[in-house]
Amino acid sequence: MDNKQILDKIYTDKSNNPDTNQLQDKTKKKCHKTDKGSKSGKSSKLTADEKRKRKLALTIINRLKEAYPDADCTLDYDSAWKLLVSVRLAAQCTDARVNIIVKDLYAKFPDVASLAAADVSDIEEIVKPCGLGHSKARDISACMKRLHEEFHDKVPEDFDTLLSLPGVGRKSANLIMGDVFGKPAIVTDTHCIRLTNRMGLINNIKEPKKVEMELWKIIPPDEGNSFCHRLVCHGRDICTARTKPHCDQCVLVDICAKNI
Ligand code: SF4
Repeated sequence: MDNKQILDKIYTDKSNNPDTNQLQDKTKKKCHKTDKGSKSGKSSKLTADEKRKRKLALTIINRLKEAYPDADCTLDYDSAWKLLVSVRLAAQCTDARVNIIVKDLYAKFPDVASLAAADVSDIEEIVKPCGLGHSKARDISACMKRLHEEFHDKVPEDFDTLLSLPGVGRKSANLIMGDVFGKPAIVTDTHCIRLTNRMGLINNIKEPKKVEMELWKIIPPDEGNSFCHRLVCHGRDICTARTKPHCDQCVLVDICAKNI
């Protein structure tokens, strides 16, 4: 199965439709040991190496579930469009800072329509502490205009349509698909790329789309979104980027490729 077929299969699966207010029931998203496993479960077309990696991935998924049962998106939002805004602001900025800055943004522009009508310079004035203020403000403005003019202020549920929105790349589109619509998603942020390489789930692949495509082959679709949230937790706490990873404290030390 090539990459396009994999994505077609995943995004034509309508089994996880969102509820009407565009936010899935948060209680369904919490991840505990009792979570059910993959619905796909089919590995017959995988190579021997991919089957081995899939088995490793399942073990890692289960251990990270125990370590981080409640891992979730660290951006605060109560509407789908707000997550879209926050994701754009989070580029090269911490989620904690974004969560502070958006409070001022939404106090002044409380809905899609008001943000779509705002001057880019007024948005920039508020969001510039997140860095890249002008380009982020320009993208947010253009994105909200499209939501307002073409989608009745709603965030589209289709992956390719999401990708067509200003400032929305694959990472952001996957996050929206997973967190807002409860659909299969793999968010290849810096933690995901670093950790999955170290763990041996992929081999020296750094380009986000290639990482995503490799992971689709071995991560059960239903597990992808939560798995990526847990990688963020693990990457911040244990498998750190700036200091040596704390392998002696890691629940994966006996199976991680870095230590084998
Ligand atoms: S064993 Fe070390 S390198 Fe491997 S995931 Fe754990 S902290 Fe990261």
